[in-house]
Amino acid sequence: MFQTEDLISKEIVTQDYEDEFQIRYIRYENVGLITTRSGKSYLILDSIDYWYDLIQDKYPAKQKCRCKNDYFKLCFNYIPRIGTDDYKAVELVSCCTECRRQRKFGEINIDYSPTVQLFNYPITYCKQPKVKYKLQSINGYWKEDAFYDLISFLSQRLLIYSQYKTPEKKWAMKRFDAEELKQLMMADGFNHMSYLRIYFSMKPLEELFDETLSAKGLKDLWRKAEVIQVNHPLIVAGCGDTYRYFYSIDCCSEYIDAWQVKKKGEAFCGLIKEFLQYSKERTK
Ligand SMILES: [Zn+2]
Repeated sequence: MFQTEDLISKEIVTQDYEDEFQIRYIRYENVGLITTRSGKSYLILDSIDYWYDLIQDKYPAKQKCRCKNDYFKLCFNYIPRIGTDDYKAVELVSCCTECRRQRKFGEINIDYSPTVQLFNYPITYCKQPKVKYKLQSINGYWKEDAFYDLISFLSQRLLIYSQYKTPEKKWAMKRFDAEELKQLMMADGFNHMSYLRIYFSMKPLEELFDETLSAKGLKDLWRKAEVIQVNHPLIVAGCGDTYRYFYSIDCCSEYIDAWQVKKKGEAFCGLIKEFLQYSKERTK
């Protein structure tokens, strides 16, 4: 158990003993890819799914030092969370192989446990960093009733689960029917968050769970399973007393498995197509 927040530093070296890298880093998402002189790529920590999502629109550029060199040695500083065996953050520091200039180019906060694997395996081999797949997540400022229509469209076609707040104010997960879901959403408001996420699934969610499925795994269920995830809206303040809801819905009809793009089932893909068409009409 850690007693202090003293940094624990780790020099980054690959299994093939390479320690000089080009860096591509997406700052606002804290996701990065490093590439060795022999052309092997690695993700910083374990952000493979996010990496693929983020590069679908734009591939991030290589970092360059002031001296124009683009190879760096890397050091990760792990910051312990006192009283636990976990790390609460990792600082990413690069050092130019030419001019030796050092720079902290990122800091990744960690809100889950355990984290020991992030120390033992600070980088994850990525055979193919550029893979395109069909990602159909949508977001926007829908009017509340238009959003409820979208939800009822899904409610009629898929099984409904939600991470909701119990009367004891604890988060729990259970299956809902359409009417119960409507009540749950109506109980939601500016000062009272009644749910975290709603999952619309082709299959009973219990079948998709295993004991190892962590809170992080649950958040990413929609990527590989036939699940449409509706996130709790962000409340955005407008002028005066007004506020608006920013909604986001995550879904995809393809996924990446062992560097290959695979298609989800025909019924689910058809449903996503129908849903996107419907939501397009509702946003007009
Ligand atoms: Zn330099």
